[in-house]
Amino acid sequence: MSQGCIFCKIVAGEMSSSFIYQDDEVTAFKDINPQAPSHILIVPNKHIGSVGDASGEDQAVLGKLLLAAAQIAQEKGVANRGYRLVINTGVDGGQSVSHLHVHLLAGRQMSWPPG
Ligand code: 5GP
Ligand code: ZN
Repeated sequence: MSQGCIFCKIVAGEMSSSFIYQDDEVTAFKDINPQAPSHILIVPNKHIGSVGDASGEDQAVLGKLLLAAAQIAQEKGVANRGYRLVINTGVDGGQSVSHLHVHLLAGRQMSWPPG
């Protein structure tokens, strides 16, 4: 757990949030400021600042994040129509919380290129 990290606090259950899923490695919860009808964040339970901070020992949990996202999309009934997974990284990438997270966005047509 990283001091002062809001996603570490959510993982630990110390901050109120709408949990979607949790196991030993990952936690999923609703984004507080949804950008689509369905907007869920999937995070590693271990504090990893960004995908750029991940190392070889994180290989399994990185894979788990995507598998969990796909599973949640299936369970939420959005997999057939499709969805977007986003990992913002660093300042230009638009990352505002320094705990690696995958955005699962669904329920509307996404545009390209992203803003
Ligand atoms: P980023 O901009 O780093 O890619 O995404 C951070 C996301 O975390 C944003 O979409 C923001 O709405 C969400 N967020 C920030 N603080 C909280 C919080 O306290 N609870 C929840 N559930 N989401 C948060
Ligand atoms: Zn953290």
